Amino acid sequence: MLIDTHCHLDAAEFDPDRPAILTAARAAGVGGLLVPGVEIANLDAVAALSRANPDCCHAFGIHPLYVGRAGPDDLERLRERLADGTAVAVGEIGLDGYVADGDLPLQRRFFEAQLRLAQDFTLPVVLHIRRAQDEILKYLRRIPVTGGIAHAFNGSRQQAEAFIALGFRLGFGGAMTFTGSRRIRELAASLPLESIVLETDAPDIPPAWCGGRRNDPANLARIAGVLADLRQMPVEAVIAATGANAAAVVPGLAALRAGGKAPGCGQ
Ligand code: ZN
Repeated sequence: MLIDTHCHLDAAEFDPDRPAILTAARAAGVGGLLVPGVEIANLDAVAALSRANPDCCHAFGIHPLYVGRAGPDDLERLRERLADGTAVAVGEIGLDGYVADGDLPLQRRFFEAQLRLAQDFTLPVVLHIRRAQDEILKYLRRIPVTGGIAHAFNGSRQQAEAFIALGFRLGFGGAMTFTGSRRIRELAASLPLESIVLETDAPDIPPAWCGGRRNDPANLARIAGVLADLRQMPVEAVIAATGANAAAVVPGLAALRAGGKAPGCGQ
């Protein structure tokens, strides 16, 4: 099954046409979407999406680029939200070393606290790892979690292997569709297929054919086709394997593949 393991379906960019976007994704064969939270203020929105749509499920977390907006009680509020049992993962959490004014000391405090929440609730994590992969790997060795997804993976082979050894799958999406993305394409072609999951990160990271316009989850079908071409294998096999990988690392997604409801989905 095609599963978009990272889609910000609640983003304001989709306010004008969200139902049509979901309809188009389904028509393209997308059978499951994981919608991560980014701050306390959007957790109601991601939870409402999965309540309303049996093929959506959500994660709860505070994104590293939103920690500056977080209040002093937000980690405690996140714990309370996770305790409702509807989230299939803790995310989107991590570190961002790319944005110049990102407050890294504050990011680190939130990341560490949220890894401990993932431990407490025995949940996988959805990681934002931009320009911070080695530091994130150090955190994961110190605070081991049940695994998760290294979203928008763009590191080296050595970093890929380190994440895999820690029980993580690597998220590949729009970046892989650019012929100039040599390293990402080479890794997508040659890493063990069991280690790869697909994602759009919509509305961000538009694939090559979007011409920089808003990305949407229907693009996942064509992204799967790109991976199939890179690996010289049938797209059906890529879709089956990456869907199984997503369900293996985020058990809440397994119910979607079985045609049922993940916790919090369609309730
Ligand atoms: Zn994201």
